[in-house]
Amino acid sequence: MQIHTFGLGFIRLSLRPFMERKVRVRFAPSPTGPLHIGGVRTALYNYLFAKQQGGDFILRIEDTDQTRFVPGAEEYIIESLKWIGISPNEGQGFGGGEFGPYRQSERKGMYRQYADQLVESGYAYYAFDSAEELDGMRETLKANGMSPQYDAVSRMSMKNSLTLSSDEVQRRLDAGDPYVIRIKLPRKEEVRFHDIIRGWVVVHTNAMDDKVLFKSDGMPTYHLANVVDDYLMRVSHVIRGEEWLPSAPLHVMLYKYLGWEDSMPEFAHLPLILKPDGNGKLSKRDGDRLGFPVFPLNWTDPVSGELSSGYRDAGYFPEAVINILAFLGWHPSDNRELFELEELVKEFSLDRVSKSGAKFDVQKAFWFNQQYLRSKDDAALCDALLPFLSKQGIERDRTYLESVCGLMKEKVSFINEIYSEGKYFFHTPESWDESLIRKKFKDFTAGILEGLKEALASLSDFSNGSIESVFHQIVEEKNGKKPGEMMLAFRLSVSGVAGGPPIFDMVSLLGKEAAVKNMESFLTYYSSLS
Ligand code: GLU
Repeated sequence: MQIHTFGLGFIRLSLRPFMERKVRVRFAPSPTGPLHIGGVRTALYNYLFAKQQGGDFILRIEDTDQTRFVPGAEEYIIESLKWIGISPNEGQGFGGGEFGPYRQSERKGMYRQYADQLVESGYAYYAFDSAEELDGMRETLKANGMSPQYDAVSRMSMKNSLTLSSDEVQRRLDAGDPYVIRIKLPRKEEVRFHDIIRGWVVVHTNAMDDKVLFKSDGMPTYHLANVVDDYLMRVSHVIRGEEWLPSAPLHVMLYKYLGWEDSMPEFAHLPLILKPDGNGKLSKRDGDRLGFPVFPLNWTDPVSGELSSGYRDAGYFPEAVINILAFLGWHPSDNRELFELEELVKEFSLDRVSKSGAKFDVQKAFWFNQQYLRSKDDAALCDALLPFLSKQGIERDRTYLESVCGLMKEKVSFINEIYSEGKYFFHTPESWDESLIRKKFKDFTAGILEGLKEALASLSDFSNGSIESVFHQIVEEKNGKKPGEMMLAFRLSVSGVAGGPPIFDMVSLLGKEAAVKNMESFLTYYSSLS
């Protein structure tokens, strides 16, 4: 479909004054799988806009397509919004509001009357075509170089209430023949509407399909249910992804045909989120390839059992994810880079949402998380670390864990890395990097480590300060070596790895028993190397 937009930056006029209308926006996902981060961004922008305008933020579950329903997807959506911290004040799973139910399958009985109203007023019609007949029509049109649409021209050669006699139509309806209800679009008309982000959008009806509004299974399609519910729920602004822009002209026609033009919401279609490298929409494969999640939470596919990783389970903080998403397609009025949610509520504006796609920036995502990790105190980090530790079956004293967090926070970008990069705080090292040892160890190294171990074993004050002075005593005074010649060996013998937080702090926190034991097992291993 050809869509013309006149996105002149200065045309940001609204069609009708909305001053008197309460801002009510909705996030309306379909429970067809895990919520993609693009969906979470849509929810976030709706939330920010609603809060800023003193309006309502609604969660509506659009599950009219029973064939695409995936168990667990609705719960996933609700849990994701809760984790990010952008709970709707009205809607499925959150209570509140007087416009429920908020799950479309439970509103089933409400839609038929509007489809009937459209048929009665001549804006929709019954169509009885079989799947084969529809395929045949599309093939013929394609073979003749035309677009395969069910439209003002092609509908005249199909089986519908515009071509069949009224007796025949009645006979079929009475006999219970399967049928759908389609919108009847005019042949040549311009559909115009204003999009807050894109400016004026103009589409010709000759490029539009007579879309199905009501299906033979007694369910409305997305288009009818979406428009009816936005109307009944008094939605003032539809803020959604760009992939819905081609549907908007049809929705505009529905508002007109149902006599609801005065209540039509304003539209804002958000830009696509693009791959970090190259063009095209961001996909799960890009995330797998470049090492970042495209879902908020882990998700296990109920059919294939395939696991997709999510931000929460990959060790991201919700605050960081909010910043990552806020900046995908929007920018603040100055060059600040970190915003708390309440600050975003104040600063957000649809005027600063861009029309062009937003490239996902992986390094920036890591950076945001690192900033939040560093800004948190040890107790908060410990709270965030606990779920990761309990997955590993690790239980430790809280004071110890807080100190581990304090030492590790400058070294990692993700909360789970406090465990994965600092395993020696929880387990005795069992293997060492042999090639590193062969490269760095001199003939005196093991002997000095032995001496150091003995000295540490008899140390009564195991503070970082006294460990440091013992180290200098043994290395410099007793053996005449430079500290730099023994640092790596000392670290490796205690922790099993070559890098980490300041060494004397680390050894002190591990405690005398563990440090000495680790050094012993390292020296046994070392003596076994030939
Ligand atoms: N159910 C649609 C979706 O899955 C909603 C689109 C809209 O917001 O109108 O995204």
